[in-house]
Formats: sequence, C-alpha cells, structure tokens
Amino acid sequence: MIQDLEALKTLLSTPQKIVVTMHRDPDADAMGSSLGWALYLQKKGHQVTVISPTDMAANLQWLPEADTVLTYEGNAAKPRECRVLIQDATLICCLDFSALSRLKELGKLVKEASAVKLLVDHHLEPENFADLMVWSTKAAATAQLIFELIRDLGDLELIDVPMAECLYAGIMTDTGSFRHGSTTPEVHMAVAQLMHTGFEVNKVHRMIFDNSPILRMKLLGHVLCNKLQVLPEYRTSYMTLSAAELEKYHSEAGDTDGIVNNGLQIENVVMTALFIERKGEVKISFRSFGSFSVRELANAHFDGGGHFNASGGRSSLSLEETVEHFLKLLPFYKTQLLAVEK
Ligand code: 5GP
Ligand code: MN
Repeated sequence: MIQDLEALKTLLSTPQKIVVTMHRDPDADAMGSSLGWALYLQKKGHQVTVISPTDMAANLQWLPEADTVLTYEGNAAKPRECRVLIQDATLICCLDFSALSRLKELGKLVKEASAVKLLVDHHLEPENFADLMVWSTKAAATAQLIFELIRDLGDLELIDVPMAECLYAGIMTDTGSFRHGSTTPEVHMAVAQLMHTGFEVNKVHRMIFDNSPILRMKLLGHVLCNKLQVLPEYRTSYMTLSAAELEKYHSEAGDTDGIVNNGLQIENVVMTALFIERKGEVKISFRSFGSFSVRELANAHFDGGGHFNASGGRSSLSLEETVEHFLKLLPFYKTQLLAVEK
C-alpha cells in the first residue's frame, strides 16, 4: 500500500526544505494529518512549513502547532511568503486531496514548483501530478496513512502526544467517530498505538465537537427546523443555507461541517445534500449509505468528487437554480436509490 516507501526513505535521509499542504477549507483530517506529518518531519531534522490554501475552522485552531500554519488566502494570508517557500522547497507533501484544483490558486504554484511532490491521500482516482505516492482508497483517513507511513519508516517510537492528537483528530473525524464502514481493525490498531503515547482522547473530542459558539448551535437548530426537506419517493433529504442566513448566524468557514450528516439520520433516507451559498458560489456536501455513490453524482454533475459515501462539489448557478438542478437529476437515480439497503 505504501507504494514509494524506499524512495521516500532515501529522500528523507538528508535534510530537506519541506512544504506540507492540504485541500482548501481544511477539515480535521486534512489539518491533523498535515500537522502530525510536519511534527514528525521536524523531529527528523527537516525544515518544514505547513501551508493551507484557506483559513482553518475555529474548532481546529487548538491543534498542536496550528498557530504556525501559513495561509495563502484568507484573513491573515501571507501569499508572498507562501510563494517563496513553495519555490524554494525540495519536497512538497500534498495531503488529503487527489487533484491540485482542490488547492485553488495555490495549486498552480505547487504544479510549477521544481520540488519532488509526495501525495498522501485516500480519495478516489488521484490526478497524475505526484512523483511519490502513498495512496489507498481503503484507508479511513489520510491521518491513518500518515500513521502507517511513520510506522513503516521505522519511527513509531517518535510519535509523541502532539503528533498523536493531530493524527487521532483526523482518524476520529473521517470515520464519523468510528462508525463508518471505513472503520477497520487497522483503524483501531492505529488508535491503540497512538493512545500508548498517553494523549487524552476525550480532549480531542471535546475540542472538536463540544466547543461550538452558541450561534452555530442556533444555526443548526434553524436548518433542522426550517430548512430540512425530505423526498420519500427518492429516499433523499436536503438542506440549504443562503449567504444571508450564514451572515445572520455569523457563520465562518468550517461552522457548517457536520450539519449535512443530520440529513441521513431520518428513517428510510439513503442520500442527503447540503447546499451552502458562500463566497459567490454554492458549495455542496453529499452523504449516502451503502451502494449509492455520491462521488459519482458530485463528479458527474457538480464539478466535485470525494468518497463513495461522502463527497462534495460546487456550482456557479444561484442557490435556487442549483437545488432545482439537483431535484431534476433525482429521477435518473431513483432505481439506484430505491435499491440501497438501510
Ligand atoms: P465535505 O462535504 O465534508 O466538504 O466533503 C466530503 C468529502 O468530499 C471529503 O472527502 C472532501 O475531500 C470531498 N470533497 C468536498 N468538496 C469537494 C470538491 O469540490 N471536489 C472534490 N474532488 N472533492 C470534494
Ligand atoms: Mn480525509
């Protein structure tokens, strides 16, 4: 599964100038795996900077070394510093995404850079831009792959509490707190090894899930009460959030993560979507159960992708037009939706 381990080992045997980057609007797996990997590389004597394409969500800012992350776009963006670091890097590590377009503008810089590029990812069909790959769609999280990579590089004993917190954050969130089908024995073995560092599991849960501003809870209440639509004939539910609603609840990037999952908790529903009007476009999150691939749906109709049961996309149409487009597609998927076992 670790395709280029020997080549990577050779490369890392001498000090490198390294940039670690991840997909835009980084979630806990993107940020946790990047920070965990960066902490490891620093321990090995490399010069490492983590660069995020956009700001990270408030509930990730406690992650160890999160305050050292440079952003290319956003509130405290440092695009010039990022550009220089990417141009000067000897190794660029691309974590938790499979296509450079997911980095927005930063993707172009990475593409043009002369550095060796390492991809560590668990999304489907990686674009062919990396020199070295650690890629498996069977992996529950990129943080799981980083754990296995460090282990296979022979450095398990270097994993300390901050690294364990970062990697656990990624594994815990991408498995939906260990309940998605991706939760394999390997996941629990990795977590068991991480727990041997003595980090506080409960703290990671608390910081990520039990730390919401009151307005985020009210936003969730509003969406569930007023915006949740169910279409029993298609076993589908969906929710929308307009720019005005986001503004009313002072919602920032990342605040809406996880809301989409509520749509799958309804009896008989096997597919759900959340449409969010943000930054002049509509961002869509899809979730499904079992045999219905929302990755295919996102890829074929919404310029997106992701995983079989969790994917995302975007649309440049208005919020209403995007929802209309989605609703018109449902008859074409009806047979597949009705066939899902729940
Ligand atoms: P979320 O709905 O939580 O933003 O994303 C769910 C999954 O789909 C994640 O694995 C994420 O990386 C992927 N994803 C979200 N948006 C996009 C997108 O626009 N393009 C692609 N290729 N994948 C996406
Ligand atoms: Mn991930």
